Amino acid sequence: MQSGRNACASLESLKHGSLMLRWRWGVLLVGLLAACQPTAMPDVRETRLMLGTVVVFTIADMPEDKALAAIKQAAEAMQAVEAAFTTHGDIHNTVKALNQAKAGQAVRLAPEVDALLQQAVAYQRQTQGAFDPTLGALNRKWGFSGDVLPSKPLSQAEVRQALAQSGVSSIHRIKPLVWVKDKAKLQLDFGAIAKGFAIDKGVETLRKMGVRDGIINAGGDMRILGRHGRKPWRIAIQHPRKDAPLGWLEVQGDSSMVTSGDYERFFMYQGVRYHHIIDPKTGFPSRKTMSVTVQAPTATQADALSTALFVLGDKQGLALVETLPKVEALWVSSDGVVHMSRGMQTQFHAL
Ligand code: AMP
Ligand code: MG
Repeated sequence: MQSGRNACASLESLKHGSLMLRWRWGVLLVGLLAACQPTAMPDVRETRLMLGTVVVFTIADMPEDKALAAIKQAAEAMQAVEAAFTTHGDIHNTVKALNQAKAGQAVRLAPEVDALLQQAVAYQRQTQGAFDPTLGALNRKWGFSGDVLPSKPLSQAEVRQALAQSGVSSIHRIKPLVWVKDKAKLQLDFGAIAKGFAIDKGVETLRKMGVRDGIINAGGDMRILGRHGRKPWRIAIQHPRKDAPLGWLEVQGDSSMVTSGDYERFFMYQGVRYHHIIDPKTGFPSRKTMSVTVQAPTATQADALSTALFVLGDKQGLALVETLPKVEALWVSSDGVVHMSRGMQTQFHAL
């Protein structure tokens, strides 16, 4: 854990802090590019390792003792989310209980899991299946979440077999909190939405503790509250192929920015990049996009949509984004071209 005051949070300092991470370090560059902007009190900043990444809390315009107390509680709330949704490690939770259940066995989920699973199913429908929380068996087979990255892609037969275990039509909420699966091997995976949900819970806690201006930045995925002194917060967007920002936005809260990129977890095989965002239609890494950054009112929504819009690509994705209130997106498509929703075009500054 690192803590302390920092009146001028520079991009450079985030870069060094992120060296703790191996393949995810670049993601942090997406983080806040809080240029030296005058605030009445210096920022309070604290860094924690959780949710499989580096989480940076930044609070502006608040006395240090109050800010640190708020950060402590927010971090605890976020850790509780991680414990409730993780499918790794020894910890027991109700996601694992449903994953291990037999077909037809009723499983009572924790209230937050029940609530997020309902949202996840709704995102599956809204995105024409591009976001799919039932891909756990396939994701595990690909192995991008393990300690060691895979070195070889799955075969068509392996993918077909794992895909057959998935599908939101095979999970049912039979009464409040209680779910059943039709297929014993169906595995839930909240990897594309739980980090956003954790950020929202952290922000809810910060608010309860009186924080009005601040950012929770979990490996480049963030929710932004209020302003930085008299100015909006300045947020950098990572270039998917360079160790540098693609550009920046000025954002004032309440707003969330989440990025999904093919550079976060990947391996190369015979000149082809295989990464962790899977197209549920094919079962293979989605090919249309290098990265997509989504701005939305909550981090949960931004996180779910970032994964879905990555899979949909800019053409199909733009059509969806333009129907969603207060949602904007920026794609770097697989040919390296930047595409933006209308609202994003008015905010984005290229570098
Ligand atoms: P994100 O980085 O938010 O785009 O989430 C990617 C993670 O979500 C992966 O590591 C998988 O655990 C899971 N995932 C991969 N593809 C999908 C998908 N199409 N829908 C939902 N979750 C996915
Ligand atoms: Mg996501």
